Amino acid sequence: MKKFISLILCAALSISVFTAATDSKAVEKQKIIAIDAGHQARGNSSTEPVGPGAQTKKAKVSSGTSGVSTKVPEYKLTLAVAKKLKKELVSRGYKVVMIRTKNDVNISNKERALKANKKADICIRLHADGVNNSSVYGASALCPSSKNKYVAKLSGKSKKLSEYVLSEMCKASGAKNRGISLRDDLTGTNWSTIPVTLIEMGFMTNPSEDKKLQSKSYQRKLAKGMAEGVDRYFGY
Ligand SMILES: [Zn+2]
Repeated sequence: MKKFISLILCAALSISVFTAATDSKAVEKQKIIAIDAGHQARGNSSTEPVGPGAQTKKAKVSSGTSGVSTKVPEYKLTLAVAKKLKKELVSRGYKVVMIRTKNDVNISNKERALKANKKADICIRLHADGVNNSSVYGASALCPSSKNKYVAKLSGKSKKLSEYVLSEMCKASGAKNRGISLRDDLTGTNWSTIPVTLIEMGFMTNPSEDKKLQSKSYQRKLAKGMAEGVDRYFGY
């Protein structure tokens, strides 16, 4: 009888191990994603080099834009979406490194990149746009060009990451896709040693896009779409 019970137990155990291994995507995905919620409660105007060995310096963290209708600052929006993106990525089996989880921090763009480099496979920097023309709207992604002085070798992969994350985000949310911009002047990108994209999720200076960006369900769509793009990047 004892032998019989242990046999059943053994069979049950192997079935449950088998199920755990097959029904969860989590098993395959051991990639680590860094999420940098752009800006912080207070900007820091002291400067740092824009890349390794650079003479040119820029402010450690600029203060960002804010909602023309909602008056919500960019740093609050980026953190709200970052948290939703983390949840979505974790549910898909990724590990996530959050560069910040609070608004009241003081982390320069260079420090953000170094923190991501240390642990992650790729980095997603979340931002929203602002311009002196309220009719402009839509989302875009910024990545380094192949002529970048510091991270030229990351250009190809960063471009692929940017394209996938941006297009899936726009598909999921209905945001207008304004395409990729090649930018070699971004400190947080130039200090990277891993593929990196900066996602401009929309224009906070456009009244209707500003309101949409503050909707929790819209934020969830943005996050879901970005996670879909990450899946595509890694070929999942
Ligand atoms: Zn920004």
